[in-house]
Amino acid sequence: MHPLDGVRVVLGVSGGIAAYRAADLTSRLVQSGALVDAILTESATEFVTPLTFQTLTKRPVYSSVFEGWTDSTKGHITLADEAAVIVIAPATANTIARLAHGMADDMLSVTCLSATPRGIPLVIAPAMEHHMFMHPATQANLQLLRERGAVVVGPEHGRLASGAIGTGRLAAIDAIVATIEQALGANGPLAGQHVVVSAGATREAADPIRILTNRSSGKMGYAIARAALNAGARVTLLTTPTAIPVPFGAEVVHVESALDLRDAVAEHAPAANALVMAAAVADYRPESVADQKIKKSDGDLVLRLTRNPDILLSVQTPGVLRVGFAAETEHHEDNALGKLARKSLDMIVSNDARAAMGNDDNNVTIYDRLGGVEHLDLASKDEIASALVERIARWLHTTP
Ligand code: C5P
Repeated sequence: MHPLDGVRVVLGVSGGIAAYRAADLTSRLVQSGALVDAILTESATEFVTPLTFQTLTKRPVYSSVFEGWTDSTKGHITLADEAAVIVIAPATANTIARLAHGMADDMLSVTCLSATPRGIPLVIAPAMEHHMFMHPATQANLQLLRERGAVVVGPEHGRLASGAIGTGRLAAIDAIVATIEQALGANGPLAGQHVVVSAGATREAADPIRILTNRSSGKMGYAIARAALNAGARVTLLTTPTAIPVPFGAEVVHVESALDLRDAVAEHAPAANALVMAAAVADYRPESVADQKIKKSDGDLVLRLTRNPDILLSVQTPGVLRVGFAAETEHHEDNALGKLARKSLDMIVSNDARAAMGNDDNNVTIYDRLGGVEHLDLASKDEIASALVERIARWLHTTP
């Protein structure tokens, strides 16, 4: 199930040119299963129409406190009662100022004023002209809202509608959606916990041009990082180069080889609560890395390989929950249980290497050192990641 499935989202749209991008955000939220109640400020309706949002959400759209009341919908009272999260995208300087100062003279400000004391998370995505954003008043207003618990995402630096370059572009839709998911899970089962996740295929250099690598895409590790973030954790992602976007909100450490990854694990894991080694680490690397490109000749080339250290074995992390992966093509259970014992792991996720690598879906069995076994039939890597994260959270809360 997607983290936004069935979630009531109030989306406030205020009056800047970035209001047109709120339609895209709305579509993404609806596709994720959210029930979106859009509120447009009066000036937003100059840029986009209520019909745009009504069509996308298939629900009434609000712009005045006094319109659109029915027997079942009583303006701010119902919206604030039922909202799981409020997101304002774009949030103009004016809307930010009005929220900071507790104004309550339009539908959006009334809804926010009524929702915040109940602990409903508020996500603000500012978008405005660069100088307005940099003005001390706007900065102070945003700071005030942050201190009251609001989460601010963006704005980004780049080309603005005026043609000028500056900070004021609405955050990427992916970043806003990720921030909403994380705001919803801020008090989740991993709140206050630090999780280190490794992901991707290591790259072992033979010369300045050539590398030895494997087919791992990084998708499983990235899904685990996202699921941990959505459960409230702080996440450090140790990642090799991949073709997929890094999860928004993770602290990212870029590595290439197994030796780089070993150093990164040694630096970041000992202070964490959990280490999840989803990276596909090369067992061997070229014994020596040529300084110059190896020239071809008519004969064969022999490349001598040497063993990489086993990171899980070589980096001691007492007190840290250690989760490994076993990607095999045969004897899955025996191999997984063997690794669980040999590497002194708390949990191991066993999967078929051929079925798992590069795909969006996976089929896994999780074994733990206390004899627990959980089989997860073919499911998306996001669903498997959520189940694994739930198990990790339970373990951290209950296992000595
Ligand atoms: O022994 P094997 O490589 O199959 O074990 C897989 C698990 O061990 C994975 O969690 C992987 O990230 C980790 N690993 C490691 N150091 C290595 C090789 C694998 O920590 N050199």
